[in-house]
Amino acid sequence: MRAMVLDAPGRPLRAATVPTPQPGPGQVRLQVLTCGVCRTDLHVADGELTEPKLPLVLGHEIVGTVEARGLDAHRYAVGARVGVPWLGWTCGECVFCRRGLENLCERARFTGYQLDGGYAEYTVADERFCFPIPDSYRDVEAAPLLCAGLIGYRALRAAGNPERLGIYGFGAAAHIVTQVARHEGRRVFAFTRAGDTAAQTFARTLGAEWSGASDDAPPEPLDAAIIFAPVGALVPAALRTVTKGGTVVCAGIHMSDIPAFPYEILWGERVVRSVANLTRKDGEEFLALAPQIPVRTEVTVYPLEQANEALAQLRAGQITGAAVLSLSGRT
Ligand SMILES: [Zn+2]
Ligand SMILES: [Zn+2]
Repeated sequence: MRAMVLDAPGRPLRAATVPTPQPGPGQVRLQVLTCGVCRTDLHVADGELTEPKLPLVLGHEIVGTVEARGLDAHRYAVGARVGVPWLGWTCGECVFCRRGLENLCERARFTGYQLDGGYAEYTVADERFCFPIPDSYRDVEAAPLLCAGLIGYRALRAAGNPERLGIYGFGAAAHIVTQVARHEGRRVFAFTRAGDTAAQTFARTLGAEWSGASDDAPPEPLDAAIIFAPVGALVPAALRTVTKGGTVVCAGIHMSDIPAFPYEILWGERVVRSVANLTRKDGEEFLALAPQIPVRTEVTVYPLEQANEALAQLRAGQITGAAVLSLSGRT
C-alpha cells in the first residue's frame, strides 16, 4: 500500500510502498477514505513528543471503510464507515482505567504515535476504540470531528459552565468548539495571533461576538478560557482575562514553557488545568451531539502525497479550519 512514513523526527515524511497491515484479533482493517492532519502530528514529526514507534505512519483522525476483520472482530460489518481517534488501546486494568479515566491509562497506545495511523491507504484498529461516523457527514467533513472535535468537546466540559468563554488559537478545534458553545448559549471571545484578521473574521462568522489578538483585553471579564495554541505565554495572558473562580484549560498535548507570573492572577480560586487525550465516552457523546447542532467543519483537502505540504501550512498557521488528506480523491 501507499503510505507517508516518518523515519525519524525532524525529517520530512517519505512517500513509500509498505506491506498492507493484517488485522489481529479484535481488530478491523480499514480502507482509509480520509485522515485529518492535527497539530499533534506536528509535535510527533518535530520530536516534541518523544516516544513514537519508528518508522511510523502518522494520523489519528481516520475515516475509513471496514474491509477485513480479524479473529473475534464482530462489532462492525464489512463495508461500515468508522472513525479511528487518537486513543487506540487501553489496558482496562490500571488504576486510571478502573476509575473511568482511560484517557490517563498507564499503558495507553495512541494512533499515529505508538500505533500506525491513517496517512496510508489502509490501517488496522482495535474495533472497541472505533466510532461509527454519523451519516450526515461527508468523509472529509467527518475527519476533524475525531480529534479537533473530541478534544475540543472534552476541553469545553473541563471549562465548567461558562457564560463567557475565551478561546486562544483559532484552528481546527476552536472552529468546532465555538459552534458547540454557541449552541449551548455561551458567549465566545476568540483570540488569535496579532494581525491574523482572517482567523478573527472566521471566528466571528462562526458566532464569536468578539475577536482580537492574544494580548488584547476582551471587552469584559471571561468566565473560562481554553488554550489550543501551543504557546505557554498564553497561560498568564488567559488568567488575566478570567474572572474569580474561572478556569483556564490547556487543551494541547505540548506547550512551550509557561513564564513565571504573579500569584495575584491565580488568586481568587482561578484554576489552570490541562486536558489529556479522550475517553470513548467523550467520543460517543460528541458524535451524537455534533449532527444535532449541526457542527459544520471547514476543511482544506490535500492528496496523501502532499502530507508534508499540509503539515507545513498547519505549522505556518495558513489553514482556515482543518486540514485533511483524502485517499479517495473525493473532496
Ligand atoms: Zn489502563
Ligand atoms: Zn489530534
